[in-house]
Amino acid sequence: MLTSICGINWGDEGKGKMVDFLSEGYDIVCRYQGGNNAGHTVINERGKFILNLLPSGILRENVVNVLGPGMVIDIKHLTEEMGRLREKGVKITPENLKISDRAVITMPYHVLMDCLEEERLADKKFGSTRRGIAPVYSDKYMKKAFRMGELLHTNLMYARVKDIVEWKNLTVAGGYHHEPISTEETINYLKTYGEPLKDYICDIGLYLNNANKAGKKIMFEAQLGALRDIDFGIYPYTSSSSTIAAYAPIGAGVPNLKLDKSIGIMKAYSSCVGEGPFTAEYFGEAAEKLRAAGGEYGAATGRPRRVGPFDVVASSYGIRCQGADEIVLTKLDILSVYEDIEVCTAYELDGQIIHDFPYPDALNRCKPVFEKVKGWHTDISKCRKKEELPKEALDYIKYIEDVCSCNITYVAVGAERDAVIKLK
Ligand code: GDP
Repeated sequence: MLTSICGINWGDEGKGKMVDFLSEGYDIVCRYQGGNNAGHTVINERGKFILNLLPSGILRENVVNVLGPGMVIDIKHLTEEMGRLREKGVKITPENLKISDRAVITMPYHVLMDCLEEERLADKKFGSTRRGIAPVYSDKYMKKAFRMGELLHTNLMYARVKDIVEWKNLTVAGGYHHEPISTEETINYLKTYGEPLKDYICDIGLYLNNANKAGKKIMFEAQLGALRDIDFGIYPYTSSSSTIAAYAPIGAGVPNLKLDKSIGIMKAYSSCVGEGPFTAEYFGEAAEKLRAAGGEYGAATGRPRRVGPFDVVASSYGIRCQGADEIVLTKLDILSVYEDIEVCTAYELDGQIIHDFPYPDALNRCKPVFEKVKGWHTDISKCRKKEELPKEALDYIKYIEDVCSCNITYVAVGAERDAVIKLK
């Protein structure tokens, strides 16, 4: 059984919490793309955890966690993240954490290049999280990156460092006029943070195929959302990897296997970190109110997120990109602050009303069309059963199902693990 859990929107939909919740009954949870540029926040009986690289299944005993070949891994960050979790009593061993030999290593010079480029761009900057993600993915496709498997063959790896450092310095020192990177420091870095991870590195494709044959249940966990996908998102304001469900088997190392189910995590309103077109955006007081109610500050960076009402146009597109069989509607409790809930039902583009998500460049000319739906205006965060939800909340869910032609099977009404209501 292979299930993917992906974001329908711009990320921060609450995927971490839902993977933590839905992973009960799964044997393996696998991250298949991205790096440590976003954070999942999981709150359960053991405390609050921010996970940047480790799959959310790490918080469940008996779940094996996989970092797939589609990922880029900052080995220092991973070491520190593992340390923080261990301090809180979470067990991490090569039995419950497996790292793909084909995953790419994010190096300190990738982080440096990310910062240098954002500084060069100044007010034209992209709002990068400065975690080196775009530079390391570029190096992967330039075939100039180091991969985790090389740590099992360090003689070859260390021999390659000199060439790569020389090439990097053409841009770091040559282009950006920064102090050059040193070969010796690069080798020392790989020794310090790479070599201790050796026991976790393996052939993930083989491992997952065997697990699948043995009837294990495997969950693929995505980072970010459909609108940040490198191909289908709001390019160039996207991430550098593929965030969509169809990529999961490839990014997890099992291109021969097919997904049984795609679950989309969709937020009951909109939020977006960083730059780029965001049609349904609220400003001023309206934004303050929603941001405060939803606690919309980035888990990895602390940056205030841009917010707006639920966007039918963008979400329907996200549902299509994810091929979502089922939807979990999260943060429904946040909408309790409204008497009437605004929804962006269409865009106006050059005087025409459109319902299909346009090519990203046209988004800059789109204006939101808002409609109002009756709210429930009462606390629903303690509800745990469908019958406990006010009629207006059930009507809102049905309304979203109808306008987005989707199948909402769960709603989330709070940050805690049990704050989830099964609808079907
Ligand atoms: P992710 O990147 O998709 O995992 O999302 P984040 O973890 O960055 O953001 C989700 C935030 O909302 C976290 O702080 C969660 O604890 C919280 N959260 C998730 N679901 C709900 C919900 O249904 N209601 C409320 N109030 N908070 C939620």
